[in-house]
Amino acid sequence: MHTPINLVVLGPPGAGKGTQAVEFAQRHVIPKISTGDILREAVQSGAELGQRAKATMDAGGLVEDELMIAIARERLNRDDVKSGFVLDGFPRTVTQATALDEIMTGRGSLVVVDIAVPDDALVARLARRRVCGQCGHATSLDPTVEARCERCGGELVLRSDDTESIVRERLRVYAEASRPLVDYYSSRPTFRAVDGDQSPAAVGAAFSEAVDAILAGMPAGSGIPEEAGA
Ligand code: ADP
Repeated sequence: MHTPINLVVLGPPGAGKGTQAVEFAQRHVIPKISTGDILREAVQSGAELGQRAKATMDAGGLVEDELMIAIARERLNRDDVKSGFVLDGFPRTVTQATALDEIMTGRGSLVVVDIAVPDDALVARLARRRVCGQCGHATSLDPTVEARCERCGGELVLRSDDTESIVRERLRVYAEASRPLVDYYSSRPTFRAVDGDQSPAAVGAAFSEAVDAILAGMPAGSGIPEEAGA
């Protein structure tokens, strides 16, 4: 069996985590787990989880660690993650990262890639971001092109937390709660940062290269990086 790729994608809101996570997961035929998607689905279906999370999400805040850790634990204990997974949107705090290490005990190393993008670029990007109301595919608004989803033809809508004041709040929350994750992981041999301030295709290429470089440092089968395992 191949060494499972247990990938965590870090980066600020609007960095393109979701886009890179979907592509990577499809290419490697492993599940993409997005806690933002899990929460939005719960909001749409009216599930209790959604009712608990909606106000926090709409305000650009973070849903409580305890709840998020329970969601991640349940999802990561399902059978389909045995050959690996891509985590998008979790962990978002050091408390969540510590819990993830505990969940992963004995299951091989995490591969962690941070997509770094400066704040001004993020505000401009998020103002232009639209999502398909039907399939959820994210795209950048181009006023010269008809506003329909390129995948399914659905109508494109502004996500309720992508308005400018909420975007600024999400960036503030990111800087305070989530940027410390880069310090938490950066000393590990299984961490790389990539420049996210380029086209999605260029970010994708840098992203794949980063994962390959990390995997090359891990002996096949063990899931444990050479430096750490030596
Ligand atoms: P983006 O991709 O724009 O960063 P997400 O879709 O990942 O946003 O998440 C949307 C919202 O869901 C967050 O702003 C937050 O309120 C909530 N959320 C998602 N994941 C987590 C998490 N791990 N911890 C706390 N809140 C979360």
